[in-house]
Amino acid sequence: MTDCLFCKIIAGTIPSNKVYEDDDMLAFHDINPEAPVHVLVIPKAHIPSMDGVTAENSCAVAKIFEKIPEIAKMAGITNGYRLISNCGEDAGQTVHHLHFHIVGGTKLPVHIV
Ligand code: AMP
Ligand code: ZN
Repeated sequence: MTDCLFCKIIAGTIPSNKVYEDDDMLAFHDINPEAPVHVLVIPKAHIPSMDGVTAENSCAVAKIFEKIPEIAKMAGITNGYRLISNCGEDAGQTVHHLHFHIVGGTKLPVHIV
């Protein structure tokens, strides 16, 4: 997926401010944070969105979910966070490589997102 922004970040051809990396995932600070802490967690495998999760690749998602509490702590979150994945046009997904937003570091507004 040479034209995918997040695949380029994984490959290192576009820089990122990394929080955590292993063989399966990369976590890095969002370039346009919407909260004091705003981290994106992505699988290294190119999955376009939540709609692309299958029995064959869902282990990558499970590994991310296992790691998210630790990633949130590494990013400095101590008092809770919100996890968001925008899927498709109505949700406003702009980068078509599955990603999970971890937002926190402040009291977040009670809202649908
Ligand atoms: P979404 O709108 O859910 O597809 O989220 C895409 C996110 O990627 C947005 O919050 C952007 O700010 C973020 N983003 C776009 N380009 C970069 C980049 N080069 N480094 C870090 N985050 C980025
Ligand atoms: Zn990709």
